Amino acid sequence: MQGDVAEHAASLRAVGAEPVEVRLPGQLEGLAGLVIPGGESTAIGKLLVNWGLHAPLRERIRLGFPVWGTCAGAIMLAEDVKDALPEQPLLGGMDISVRRNAFGRQTQSFETDLPVPSLGNQPVHAVFIRAPKIESVGEDVEVLATLEDGSIAAARQGPLLATTFHPELTPDTRFHRLFVEMAAKTRTTR
Ligand code: GLN
Repeated sequence: MQGDVAEHAASLRAVGAEPVEVRLPGQLEGLAGLVIPGGESTAIGKLLVNWGLHAPLRERIRLGFPVWGTCAGAIMLAEDVKDALPEQPLLGGMDISVRRNAFGRQTQSFETDLPVPSLGNQPVHAVFIRAPKIESVGEDVEVLATLEDGSIAAARQGPLLATTFHPELTPDTRFHRLFVEMAAKTRTTR
């Protein structure tokens, strides 16, 4: 609908997946998983409703469909969103509490080398653009990366993955590989 669709598709292709673009409900058929890119969560939510994707996607997420949300996409997946607009449509599914636009003015956008121990010793170069913060997570959620201020930047709950930054904007494909593996695993255990 919005955001870094082409960049995500390129990174998914680089790890051996076959990305297709999804804008309409019928296009969800037969997919192993879905990436919701960054952009503007208010706009993504409205478009999901207008194009009839909101209800089917919510239903699928509840049935265990693998979804990865980056930045605005992570907001869409959160069960609790602070500083959301009053009528902002969300998807939910992940037991995480997220605050929109949580970095102050000077750090609205920044890049940092983020340690992600489960992806190896080499940190991930992470690009944050008007990013949310994951402020807390439920007990079924695995924290994958934490920033120096203690806020969580990447988390996983079963087949759901949330990153508050943009792995599609760097050549490092480790997060894309992780999500493709999560989706493949979900498919074989279904
Ligand atoms: N600030 C945006 C929002 O609240 C997210 C920004 C992004 O996805 N880069 O939806």
